[in-house]
Amino acid sequence: MTDSQKPDYHKPWCWQCQEHTHFKTITRTHHDEHGTRRRTQNVCSMCGKSVFRPAAVDFAYYGKVGGRCVWVYFVIAVICILPLVFWSIDNLAEDARALLVVGSVVVVFLIIPWAMLGWASRKYAIWKTWAEERGWQEPPKEKRAWVPR
Ligand SMILES: [Zn+2]
Repeated sequence: MTDSQKPDYHKPWCWQCQEHTHFKTITRTHHDEHGTRRRTQNVCSMCGKSVFRPAAVDFAYYGKVGGRCVWVYFVIAVICILPLVFWSIDNLAEDARALLVVGSVVVVFLIIPWAMLGWASRKYAIWKTWAEERGWQEPPKEKRAWVPR
């Protein structure tokens, strides 16, 4: 393993090998009832795990608009789900299945998205630590935000 790596925010990074490894693009083909779908993926040529740009897991990359979308999503989700939660508590005595249904709604619309955000921020923190050990300095938020071309 060479450790003369220059951290690059926009270059795919292998999260397994912890370096900017060479990668290859593979195309996976899925067959299902909707037909055939192709999905391309960049994988590390050393370990075969998928590689992606650190920018992809940095919230700053998505800019103010991205952040706002996330907040709007959670606010709407909570507004929609809260009455359901209260309703299920009221009906719990009569029907325990209500809790199951509401529980799954909460998991799918709140807990999973929240866990994904947590996962992304942990990933970015890993890369940031690695990059800073190699002299990378995190540019200010505005500089990291994605700019449409
Ligand atoms: Zn790798």
